[in-house]
Amino acid sequence: MNVNQSAPPGPPFGQNQPVYPGYHQSSYGGQPGPAVPPAPCGAYNGPVPGYQQTPPQGVPRAPPSSGALPASTAQPSGGQTTYSQFGQGDIQNGPSSSAQLQRLPGSQQFGSPLAPVVSQPAVFQPYGPPPTSTQVTAQLAGMQISGAVAPAPPPSGLGYGPPTSLASASGSFPNSGPYGSYPQSQAPPLSQAQGHPGVQPLLRSAPPLASSLTPPASGGPRMPSMTAPLPPGQGFGSLPVTQANHVSSPPTHALSPGTQMTGPPVPPPPMHSPQQPGYQLQQNGSFGPGRGPQPNYESSYPGAPTFGSQPGPPQPLPPKRLDPDAIPSPQLNELPPQQKTRHRIDPDAIPSPIQVIEDDRNNRGSEPFVTGVRGQVPPLVTTNFLVKDQGNASPRYIRCTSYNIPCTSDMAKQAQVPLAAVIKPLARLPPEEASPYVVDHGESGPLRCNRCKAYMCPLMMFIEGGRRFQCSFCSCVNDVPPQYFQHLDHTGKRVDAYDRPELSMGSYEFLATVDYCKNNKFPSPPAFIFMIDVSYNAIRTGLVRLLCEELKSLLDYLPREGGAEESAIRVGFVTYNKVLHFYNVKSSLAQPQMMVVSDVADMFVPLLDGFLVNVSESRAVITSLLDQIPEMFADTRETETVFAPVIQAGLEALKAAECAGKLFVFHTSLPIAEAPGKLKNRDDRKLISTDKEKTLFQPQTGTYQTLAKECVAQGCCVDLFLFPNQYVDVATLCVVPQLTGGSVYKYACFQVENDQERFLSDLRRDVQKVVGFDAVMRVRTSTGIRAVDFFGAFYMSNTTDVELAGLDGDKTVTVEFKHDDRLSEESGALLQCALLYTSCAGQRRLRIHNLALNCCTQLADLYRNCETDTLINYMAKFAYRGVLTSPVKTVRDTLIAQCAQILACYRKNCASPSSAGQLILPECMKLLPVYLNCVLKSDVLQPGAEVTTDDRAYVRQLVSSMDVAETNVFFYPRLLPLTKSPLDSTTEPPAVRASEERLSSGDIYLLENGLNLFVWVGASVQQGVVQSLFNVSSFSQITSGLSVLPVLDNPLSKKVRGLIDSLRAQRMRYMKLIVVKQEDKLEMLFKHFLVEDKSLSGGASYVDFLCHMHKEIRQLLS
Ligand SMILES: [Zn+2]
Repeated sequence: MNVNQSAPPGPPFGQNQPVYPGYHQSSYGGQPGPAVPPAPCGAYNGPVPGYQQTPPQGVPRAPPSSGALPASTAQPSGGQTTYSQFGQGDIQNGPSSSAQLQRLPGSQQFGSPLAPVVSQPAVFQPYGPPPTSTQVTAQLAGMQISGAVAPAPPPSGLGYGPPTSLASASGSFPNSGPYGSYPQSQAPPLSQAQGHPGVQPLLRSAPPLASSLTPPASGGPRMPSMTAPLPPGQGFGSLPVTQANHVSSPPTHALSPGTQMTGPPVPPPPMHSPQQPGYQLQQNGSFGPGRGPQPNYESSYPGAPTFGSQPGPPQPLPPKRLDPDAIPSPQLNELPPQQKTRHRIDPDAIPSPIQVIEDDRNNRGSEPFVTGVRGQVPPLVTTNFLVKDQGNASPRYIRCTSYNIPCTSDMAKQAQVPLAAVIKPLARLPPEEASPYVVDHGESGPLRCNRCKAYMCPLMMFIEGGRRFQCSFCSCVNDVPPQYFQHLDHTGKRVDAYDRPELSMGSYEFLATVDYCKNNKFPSPPAFIFMIDVSYNAIRTGLVRLLCEELKSLLDYLPREGGAEESAIRVGFVTYNKVLHFYNVKSSLAQPQMMVVSDVADMFVPLLDGFLVNVSESRAVITSLLDQIPEMFADTRETETVFAPVIQAGLEALKAAECAGKLFVFHTSLPIAEAPGKLKNRDDRKLISTDKEKTLFQPQTGTYQTLAKECVAQGCCVDLFLFPNQYVDVATLCVVPQLTGGSVYKYACFQVENDQERFLSDLRRDVQKVVGFDAVMRVRTSTGIRAVDFFGAFYMSNTTDVELAGLDGDKTVTVEFKHDDRLSEESGALLQCALLYTSCAGQRRLRIHNLALNCCTQLADLYRNCETDTLINYMAKFAYRGVLTSPVKTVRDTLIAQCAQILACYRKNCASPSSAGQLILPECMKLLPVYLNCVLKSDVLQPGAEVTTDDRAYVRQLVSSMDVAETNVFFYPRLLPLTKSPLDSTTEPPAVRASEERLSSGDIYLLENGLNLFVWVGASVQQGVVQSLFNVSSFSQITSGLSVLPVLDNPLSKKVRGLIDSLRAQRMRYMKLIVVKQEDKLEMLFKHFLVEDKSLSGGASYVDFLCHMHKEIRQLLS
């Protein structure tokens, strides 16, 4: 490609060239060159239309050399050495140096082909349009004024970037998809006033602002629910005291429960003022304290009316108390009275997840989320929105528990709000969004701060006319290398800022130099090894035959990069029971050859040549092998298996091939055969609720940790597919996948006829997904905070580097931060996540994500900028890890105490004075109790009798690397009425709350949580509906437990099947359908997911838990 296009003579990308080495225009907006492997997310490379227009950047720019290069700009003394990331003991992401060298002995042969970065230009994607003045100012503004965002109509969105194309794109964005467009108003309207330091005392007992000017923290933008849009003009003054966000408890005078409530006056319900969606009042639904039953509660409840008044709901709202879901639920009236009054708290009066989700969709789903402004809270994960990267990482990559961090650790301790980020470095993007541009700085490699090793990013400040830059993370002043020099404009910004992703985007990639590779050699393309259990159970169930048949075609879909014609990944095959069989599938052979290794105690790979092969070259031999495997073992009587030696074998094969890779292990039973890693059945349900319960989650031997460590060193990721008929000790078998960044799938009692669709769907997705291999992730922070704890599927050999043998686009790492100094409101808090990895084609890259957060001296600002879904993600992972070392009850109590502390701190410091009988929730956290209760009653923390030890270990493992959207739906399932919305409606029906009270026996509902999918059929559903959907004439003829809906040619059938397909497409794993009939015995299974209700295992109902939480808070405050 045009490597030298703009570059003067001399070696392409040479360091001394005045030209911007590596950053060729061709790359930008250029055509993807075949030579260069495209970005890892091949599928998503589609250029965003809006971005295309950009003029090829490189061209117009005059070579910097033209004069500007000050002699003084001499290169940093250390030269590359200094550069190397290993400065101050930091190994991570750094070039290979010693640390990595030690880890990986093997040298790699295939380096050279990939090395020539030259081709990179191809990698680049069309870049954005040249900067506009708006952008500049907006960004600057963002840097300094945290409150700037506050004003309702956030200007930021509009002023930025190429407005046109993206905007229009958003319109067409599929509503149902995981992504969507959304509007802007992220900043809490009120924040401005409160944001200014000094205006208000830190800890006001009676926060004036809360009452008069601003509804306290409640103002969060996304809090919909009980809010009605407030015309901006009507100052907040009118909404005084009524803290919208406050859920006040029922009438209580002072402390005596049960009496009338003196709660804050409820403002005139702003109810139906559809205009001005931008401004929201906070919800105010005060609802009763849960203390005791209170007669009259319902009538005295003041806040209720505001509920459900979402802007512009299609249906007219009833005047009286509304169903928060704004969904007619006629069946409520049919319920026995005691069901409604049992709690004395109207379930409709407490914060509704459905309402919050719906309101956020309505308010933020229509315009793109523009990342140019610091500290903006993104739309909820349940809202479809498009993202425009203008300097901060997209929320698809990073979500934070709060976008406004307390300046001091004292404040943070007082609030107890965890400061954490959920990072998904290789997140897949919707086609409308461009994947990160790849930047090539040639042989000099990425530009970094000499001291802290942070990578060049939009947060760096150029000074001295552009000759130096000050690191925003550590304040170190660095020289700008001559070849990187550029003049500054009158605002102090480099004139080429918008031509360079690393100066204007929140996320981008650098091509890594050889310094970033193990042993200073560029890596070889990775390999996939399929390791198939051929013991009696695997054969008997038909698994082996099914799998072999599928692989024949699936191997054509191995991940490839960009325009590559075929995948660079090589494949190998092993079968096993008590012994291992390796296969030579070299292309020159007429038939595959099998080699048996029976010495499983000292595993080695009996052949090197011919074991890992290119699929297209060896296709005939591979096909022959896959045809023969099921036949060869058809009559096996071997029931025993080994497991650790299988992984060891795969690892040794990768070592021998000197490459990273992934093992796909298909396993059926507890490995009891004599071998390393042999396990015994130690399942013991009697340990539940005892101090020894934690042992159920711990591995029973250390063999697998040791093995995992070796795998990580080699970049060997392990994906495990389990097909158990009984206990297999998932807690132990999952150790290697967990520590190597792998995935685990479990199909209990697998039967081909019932489970093949699910298994094959998962397998196809798993094999095809893009993976980064041999990865190291480090999160750097600006002075004042640092990353202290990490959650997810990875390995850590020190306290800062997250090592991932493999990392795919589904996996997240949750990182917790703590203060180590004071932060300032002016400079904010900055995060930079750097992931060094090997792409599917074997290219070594660095993916950088930057995010700037605000800092506050007022606790109210913290509470106003929180993200409850992300908080729950963190808290669940924290708890699920806690069960490894502490009694489950202790873990539960810790969560409850933390939640109470968070809410009590808000009440004490941010809420306006009110009776102690009121429960007051911050607007942004009003769902914290309901969601936390779901975590507390989940199978890991409070198992029902039907939950097996393996199930718990499995779920524990799954949750550890879930992203925020996944934990959200996993803990609070979606319940969708199928028969209430018009048949011709193309959108997903509005959900209802996950409670039995919301089910009408005359309707059919769908429930899903990302893993399970149910269709519940009410006993009095109309005959015609039953016929349309199930093709039988009556309810009684519907087969309970049905897993497939008949394909019928009528609107209802098409609609329901279409909805199921669409939901499955959104989730990471195939959800198997189970049809449940009302009053049928399978219904118990379904009811387990109605998480607002009391559970059979003793989990509290939402209302009860809220009462309990209120009691805890009152104790803290008294
Ligand atoms: Zn620095």
